[in-house]
Amino acid sequence: MKKHNFYAGPSILSPYTIQKTADAVLNFADTGLSVLEVSHRSKEFQAVVDEAQALTKELLQLPDDYHVLFLGGGASLQFCMVPFNILETKAAYINTGTWATNAIKEARIFGEVEVLASSEDTKFNYIPKDFTIPSDVDYFHFTSNNTIYGTEIRHDFDSPVPVVCDMSSDIFSRVFDPTKYGIIYAGAQKNLAPSGVTIVIVKESLLGHVSRPIPTMLDYRTHIKKGSMFNTPPVLPIFSALQTLRYYKEQGGVKAMEKIDMEKAAMLYDAIDSSKMFVGTVAEEDRSIMNVCFVMKPDYAELEKDFMEFATSKGIVGIKGHRSVGGFRASLYNALPIESVKVLVDAMKEFEAKH
Ligand SMILES: *Cc1c(COP(=O)(O)O)cnc(C)c1O
Repeated sequence: MKKHNFYAGPSILSPYTIQKTADAVLNFADTGLSVLEVSHRSKEFQAVVDEAQALTKELLQLPDDYHVLFLGGGASLQFCMVPFNILETKAAYINTGTWATNAIKEARIFGEVEVLASSEDTKFNYIPKDFTIPSDVDYFHFTSNNTIYGTEIRHDFDSPVPVVCDMSSDIFSRVFDPTKYGIIYAGAQKNLAPSGVTIVIVKESLLGHVSRPIPTMLDYRTHIKKGSMFNTPPVLPIFSALQTLRYYKEQGGVKAMEKIDMEKAAMLYDAIDSSKMFVGTVAEEDRSIMNVCFVMKPDYAELEKDFMEFATSKGIVGIKGHRSVGGFRASLYNALPIESVKVLVDAMKEFEAKH
């Protein structure tokens, strides 16, 4: 049976990415070797890194003084690497979910953190908007898409200080103005590649201003200087990331992805809003385009397990909500075809008609 993959991460990749990766596992760039067994210093792999960096710059329209790095350690390592490199005295964060909470915790190791706003008291079911970014902090940090709670900030901030953004689960789904950002990071396993690589975009002028010593491996300048090849990078995930980037370009770039992402999300939210059985969990104006969270209305709560089984029988995979929210979460990343959303919506309607 055809599967419809709604996993939150690692998550669906384009058939193009999967096929090209499978091909390269057998024979990488006509070397007669598998991509799993080639030196990262080979000219064939150097070409992969070069093209992946160039395509990221092109797709996101990054200015020349922004560097693209492919690092290990996940987005979670960036929670510490960011403050290690640029927090001298004080930073400002907004707390919009689990990942933001984790980022704040790490930053506190390095300096003072001012939490400008938080929606923790209502289980992160909206994006706080009533705050001002102070001018006496080293940077302002936010999470653009809250993967677990299903809220999203789909705009750029005008900030008096450099902006740092965790775009792990919505990078390449929204056209943004890169000049409004100082550092952007994103774990690849949501919208780009298999897990194991994190894309980090850094504006060089932000670096070199903190007084603490920085371990070589955690210093962005090390990786910039060595073209993201200071040590052995995650070779296979970078190879797959390149395939996805090529696919995005061929599809018409970020703008084209955004358009179809909006259509997919509208289709599912419409189904939720017109349902007597299901209800969304977050404020309408803050709804994520990538991760749609919904639950059974109280009158139908006991049918949750039944719906899960019914969905499974239709080939739907990965819609169980995160344990901190419960219910359902359908992740609609770029690679998810609109047909899969249609299958989910039809399953919801069919199930509702039956009960
Ligand atoms: C998944 C996720 C993370 C954690 O990524 P790891 O690569 O597992 O460290 C951080 N932030 C956001 C927004 C995420 O969705």
